[in-house]
Amino acid sequence: MQEKIELIKKLKTEKNAVILAHCYQNAEIDEVADFVGDSLYLSQQAAKTDADIIVFAGVFFMAQTAKILNPNKKVLLPRTESGCLMADMINYHQLMEFKSQHPGIPTVCYINSTAEVKSECDICCTSSNAIKIVDSLNADEVLFLPDTYLGKWVEKQLRNVKVTTYPGYCPTHLRIKPEDIIEAKNKYPDAEVLAHPECHKNVTELADYVGSTTGIMNYAIKSNKKQFIIATEKGVVDRLSRDYKDKKFILIKDNIICPNMKWHTLDDIYNALEKEQYEINVDEKIAKKALICIDRMLEVSK
Ligand code: SF4
Repeated sequence: MQEKIELIKKLKTEKNAVILAHCYQNAEIDEVADFVGDSLYLSQQAAKTDADIIVFAGVFFMAQTAKILNPNKKVLLPRTESGCLMADMINYHQLMEFKSQHPGIPTVCYINSTAEVKSECDICCTSSNAIKIVDSLNADEVLFLPDTYLGKWVEKQLRNVKVTTYPGYCPTHLRIKPEDIIEAKNKYPDAEVLAHPECHKNVTELADYVGSTTGIMNYAIKSNKKQFIIATEKGVVDRLSRDYKDKKFILIKDNIICPNMKWHTLDDIYNALEKEQYEINVDEKIAKKALICIDRMLEVSK
């Protein structure tokens, strides 16, 4: 493995490439990544980079977002199978139908959506900034898609805005059931429960803290507590357990793994760099419109 890591680092320098890795990736990817984080952080890094090549160890919509932000750079997704089941729940036609049912209402799309969908929305958000983004619209009502659970969680936090959601969801986070939380709390009574807002509301209601991937990690790092039950993707537990050995991080259930996030291996990253594959391109017209939606988010998140 060390040999492959060195080869990747060498190629990265030769080709002036940067590797962006999402926290849900296999933890070994961190050894070669320049930036590891959640969707917001990685979008901000993608917007700033002066590299010629961006290798995205994440899922398709993330690489697409990086390409929209960097139309003149080469953006590579090492494994094309890396899609997002939630993002695939709404396409352009379904969006137009949803919008036509609620005319004149501003539309917020979760970053977990395709470029085509972003191109027809007013502003984009991630789970880190969703509250701030919806609030920034100063609207009585917003349309939110595709994740109904994130949208409804935002509505609960803001209280003064109606969030009408599209019925999309993350199949990985929905595997977490309220009874899993109750069982884990009984088993680890001293632990705090930290949950992602993509979880069902019956789960987030039982959590001590609800926040994005970065929010969960920061909360656990800063807390005086020593034990945490983590109700989100396994990659978060892998990284926290690796980096904070004086604390105990318990994954709520063994199967909270996003299969699409786990495709990329070090071999795939190496092949992507060496063969410059698989290049992500976005139709110019769609990219221009989607960029407005993403840029608005980045502006509000500054
Ligand atoms: S965890 Fe859920 S929302 Fe995130 S990439 Fe996987 S399927 Fe998509």
